[in-house]
Amino acid sequence: MDVAKLREDFPVLSSGVIYLDSAATSLKPRAVVDAVRRYYEEYTENVHRGMGRMAQRATDEYEGAREALASFIGAKPHEVAFTSGTTASINIVAEGIAWEAGDEIVVTRMEHHSNLLPWIRASKIHGLRLRFVELDDEGRLDMRSLEASLGPRTRLVALTHSSNVTGVVNDVEAVAKLAHDHGALLLVDGAQSVPHMPVDVRRLGADFLAFSGHKMLGPTGIGVLYVSEAAQDSLQPPWLGGGMVEEVTGDYYRLLGFPQRLEPGTPNIAGALGLGAAARYLSGIGMEGVLEHELELVRVALDELRGIEGLSLLGPWSPRGRLGIFSFSLRGRHPDEVAALLSEMSGIEVRSGYHCAQPLHMRYGFRGTVRASTYLYNTVDEIRALADSLRRISRM
Ligand code: PLP
Repeated sequence: MDVAKLREDFPVLSSGVIYLDSAATSLKPRAVVDAVRRYYEEYTENVHRGMGRMAQRATDEYEGAREALASFIGAKPHEVAFTSGTTASINIVAEGIAWEAGDEIVVTRMEHHSNLLPWIRASKIHGLRLRFVELDDEGRLDMRSLEASLGPRTRLVALTHSSNVTGVVNDVEAVAKLAHDHGALLLVDGAQSVPHMPVDVRRLGADFLAFSGHKMLGPTGIGVLYVSEAAQDSLQPPWLGGGMVEEVTGDYYRLLGFPQRLEPGTPNIAGALGLGAAARYLSGIGMEGVLEHELELVRVALDELRGIEGLSLLGPWSPRGRLGIFSFSLRGRHPDEVAALLSEMSGIEVRSGYHCAQPLHMRYGFRGTVRASTYLYNTVDEIRALADSLRRISRM
């Protein structure tokens, strides 16, 4: 992977910014911006509705984007529904399963609020039981706790593939096997994994996979809900409207199949086209290469951060089984202050706060952290610049 060359595809980088906030949202390459612009400038039309040339082109490109996303995760096109992002995808599942009182949902202490709040609400509405899987001292999943959480009433296991705070990558294949042995469905939050590593839904064994376009070089407001063929019968669409029905007569309607039944109303067409372009861009580079580059940055970052006085890392110090997300506190400094100083002093963009994962912070006694996160356009020099700036701030 030629990082220096691919950096030229990202216009924002020419400002000299050191962008280490890709876990929040990634930068966008020209190919993505161009795909969106072309749609608005050349063939703005609705999809699946018109017979005109522009409408046909819009529909073909939209379905082409679906195919690109399906191929990106090893799925079939009809298993891929466009949503507005990970949050929407998870809520669709939480609202679309026909829960029965007493059903159990297994979640973990490392979830983003988007993969927690929908289950808390569903459990209150339908009389379900939420069971929490605990973590070990490094922030990794405790597999014994997971096994103990599963039982005859487990209906669904919902876990993140990779934590947006610690970067830990969970062994989803092992979790899938355990969940399925108990007759449960598995929902995987792929918001932080799909953009950064090869993900194959068949190998993973997920019934549902949710991810966001904007974290994988695509536009905001677009994402994916993958629903495996086998799990499609267990999900009813929570919202109804145009574009998803085969027949409507008076008080009767018959829905189309997947994925159309999950896409009522006019979809985010421009967003889907941009996301299709992002998936093609990443496939062109190769996700193996993207991951390899990230793991190199992980090794350098952990080495650099380890030597900084007063720095406490939330997450494993070992590079094994983790991605390029580093959440930490600096002794005597509020995380917001550190993030502002990094930006002011060195033009380094990071994030501060709970990163929508308050239970995880509480588990390890952190009242917020600074989070630096990497992607394919980051360099070893940028990681060293981050460490230099942190050293200066810790001495100030
Ligand atoms: N899950 C994880 C692990 C995330 O990191 C995020 C975003 O930060 C989300 C879910 C929510 O994604 P979105 O805000 O794109 O819906």
